Amino acid sequence: MPQIVRAFLGLGSNLGDRRELLTSAVRDIPDKHAISGVYETAPIGGPSQGAFLNLVVEMRTSIAPYDLLNTCQQLENSAGRVRTEHWGPRTLDVDVLLYGELELDDPQLTVPHPLMNTRAFVLYPLADLAPELLSPHWREAVSDQAIVRVEDLSC
Ligand code: AMP
Repeated sequence: MPQIVRAFLGLGSNLGDRRELLTSAVRDIPDKHAISGVYETAPIGGPSQGAFLNLVVEMRTSIAPYDLLNTCQQLENSAGRVRTEHWGPRTLDVDVLLYGELELDDPQLTVPHPLMNTRAFVLYPLADLAPELLSPHWREAVSDQAIVRVEDLSC
C-alpha cells in the first residue's frame, strides 16, 4: 500500500482572469481533499503590478515530492505562465507548501516552503484548512499585510 501524505499547495494569480485561472488549476489538481477560501492581497516586492488572488489546496496523496513539484509546474505551464521578470506578475504560481512532515533543503524543492510563515497569503488560507499546523501567533507575524477574503471558488 502506498503511503498517503497530507500535502498543501499554495496557488496565486495576478494576471489575466485570476478567478478562472485558479478555478481551472484547482480542477486539475489530483487527490484534492479540501480547498481554502480565496484571499486578495497586494503584491510583495517586484515591479508595480496588480493584486493577487490566493488560495491553498489540501491533498491526500501518494504522489512523490518531486513528482508533485512537477505537477505544480505543469499547472503553471497550462495557465500559459511566461517568466518575464523575477517576482513580476504571473498568470499562475503554484508552490508546494507542506508535504507531510517532510523537510527538504534543496533549491529545487524546499519544504516546508521557506517563505510560508511570513506571508499572509499563505497563512490565512492555510488556517482555513489546518489551523493546528500553525503557530498560535501566526497572525501577528503578518499583521502588516493587507488581506481580504473574497468569494469562494465554485468548484
Ligand atoms: P517561483 O518563481 O516561485 O515559481 O519559483 C520556482 C522555482 O522554485 C523552481 O525552480 C522550483 O524548483 C523552486 N522551488 C523550491 N522550492 C519550491 C517549493 N516548495 N514549491 C515550488 N517551487 C519550489
